[in-house]
Amino acid sequence: MKALTIKGVREIGMIEKEKPVADERFSVIKVTHAGICGSDLHLFWAAGAFAGTNYVPGHEFAGVIEETLPGSGFEVGDRVVAMDISPCGECEYCKSGRPQLCDMCFAEAPGVSGVDGGYAEYSKVRNDFIRKLPDNISLQHAAMIEPVCISMHGVNMGNVNEDSNVLVTGGGAIGLFAAACAKAKGAKYVALTEANPGRIKIAEEADFVDEVFNALDPEIGEKVKAKAPKGFDISIECSGNSAAANLALWSLKKGGDLVVLAVGNGFDYNYGMVFAEYHIHGSVMFTVEEFDDVIRLMSEGKIDVEKYGELVAMEDAQEIFEGLDNGSRPAVKYIYDMSK
Ligand SMILES: [Zn+2]
Ligand SMILES: [Zn+2]
Repeated sequence: MKALTIKGVREIGMIEKEKPVADERFSVIKVTHAGICGSDLHLFWAAGAFAGTNYVPGHEFAGVIEETLPGSGFEVGDRVVAMDISPCGECEYCKSGRPQLCDMCFAEAPGVSGVDGGYAEYSKVRNDFIRKLPDNISLQHAAMIEPVCISMHGVNMGNVNEDSNVLVTGGGAIGLFAAACAKAKGAKYVALTEANPGRIKIAEEADFVDEVFNALDPEIGEKVKAKAPKGFDISIECSGNSAAANLALWSLKKGGDLVVLAVGNGFDYNYGMVFAEYHIHGSVMFTVEEFDDVIRLMSEGKIDVEKYGELVAMEDAQEIFEGLDNGSRPAVKYIYDMSK
């Protein structure tokens, strides 16, 4: 089968690989759509530990069951989406509903850390981490379930509800989807900050964003704070930029919650945080319940991000990754369409 691998620093290309085989625990998915994640770009930049090993990235994908054994709960042809987690189910974290902190979370997870993923014609996924899709979720839309779940986990970490006013810093896929999830959870007001003009326009056109602020505006601090004079209930930092992270933190009300979804340079620590009793949450991956919740919300039309996926071909991977790197590819999400 055809697959993509990181061949070296800033080099991604096609390889031939053996098609995976189903067994008692795993089914084989014929991948139809696989999204490109910002974390895949880190592999591209640094080549990482997996360069040259024929490792197949790709952890945001959907498709149809190609091969499965009796008792799996699936049938050949089922439309499905894969989860990129594999928690043990036994440890302290699994037992307390936090599989994302399990030491085994990625041990058998496709496309995250060394187990072949979805940048391929076929991918093998553990049966308990495959979900059938409702008829009204397209396979293209389904390829965005995983990143939406990353955002939903952040929204839940901040306990967003009907009374919340929420500030999202950073309008890439995770920030934009965090705004969509916050609105789906009933948030009263959702503001978003972003520096890239193309992304500002996309956020302005999104009906789940109430207001967009240009991160390069020197008066952004005052303008954002004017929208919530007592401070925001929850800030969700999705930019990785220090100025934005500081805005997210210092725009909170007393007792407010900062959720950090981006891996970046962080914010300034000072004693103001102590007197305001800020709650600061790291947020990684998602829970199985959140994954199922996002599928339901998409099926009910409460989260609709389908138009943010631009379909591309695996053959064009090098050019697409270079475009993501140099900013000439501004779409919220690029998705390999395996029929291209
Ligand atoms: Zn991702
Ligand atoms: Zn565990």
